[in-house]
Amino acid sequence: MSDVLKAPLAPKKTPTSAPFWDGLAEGRVLLQQCEACNQWVFYPRPRCSHCLAPALLWKPVSGAATLTSWTHCPRPTAPPFEALAPQTLAVVTLQEGVRMSTFLLETADRPLTLGMALAPRFVPTEDDSAVLLAFAPA
Ligand SMILES: [Zn+2]
Repeated sequence: MSDVLKAPLAPKKTPTSAPFWDGLAEGRVLLQQCEACNQWVFYPRPRCSHCLAPALLWKPVSGAATLTSWTHCPRPTAPPFEALAPQTLAVVTLQEGVRMSTFLLETADRPLTLGMALAPRFVPTEDDSAVLLAFAPA
């Protein structure tokens, strides 16, 4: 868990997404993998986005990723995020091939480059009701 930063807002868990959020609370990244076609799926959903099979299993992954895109936001993206500004918002590609929108940490002294290696960071919300998934240079 990051002791540097607390995120202001907690996500709303659904029955479909709860394993993802519960995994983050345990410091683990869980992704869905399809039993029928073996493809990885993100965001959480009840059916495979590749073959539509309802056979998705939650599996732990390393969280290792590469940087796909990013932007620096000197102003908060919304009022609750004022304490986090400036934010670096990013799209990252996990080793399993899925992409996710996130934010980057620990980038002050690190120039960002496309494809750079990233590692997961687990950021609790202010009310400690959830943990968000961020990334930092590996
Ligand atoms: Zn499938």
